[in-house]
Amino acid sequence: MTLDDFREILKEARPSFYQYPQPVRVYLHWTAGHYYTSFPEYHICIDADGEIIESLPLTEIPQATWHRNTGSIAIALCCCAGATAYKGDPYEVDLGEEPPTDAQIETLAQVMAAISDVFEIPIDNEHFLTHAEAADLDGYGPETTCERWDLAVLKNDDEWGSGGDILRGKAIFYQQMEANNE
Ligand SMILES: [Zn+2]
Repeated sequence: MTLDDFREILKEARPSFYQYPQPVRVYLHWTAGHYYTSFPEYHICIDADGEIIESLPLTEIPQATWHRNTGSIAIALCCCAGATAYKGDPYEVDLGEEPPTDAQIETLAQVMAAISDVFEIPIDNEHFLTHAEAADLDGYGPETTCERWDLAVLKNDDEWGSGGDILRGKAIFYQQMEANNE
């Protein structure tokens, strides 16, 4: 679907989030699968071409982020099959044969900006977290067992842990661009 279509389904789904006591949280994943395979554990999957795919209705609860699914929106990049990270100083990262593409990263940032606009939440690390960041808060992320480290980096050579800030920075850029066009 287009970004405009995505905005429309966000607007339609928004009232179903009013039942939750806290503002929506958005969790950013990779599927650890292939470029063109979507999974219904996430609301939205983004394939290697940056195509936005609705894999679960936004009104349903995803099964994506341990203990954090209720009242959340889960978005995944279809990528990173076989990606590995070995703890060291710094981490030794190999995102494998299917690392996040530029098209995926840019679409994700635009999707984040759209959610921020429609749900009126700021683009910060309280509302938009990578699964790596959420997992660190819950004790299974890169700081401890590294069971989940989705989007800790976007490229092999990126600074470890920079993925969330890069995505939020890009999302803010798109949001401002959109605001200037209005
Ligand atoms: Zn994940």
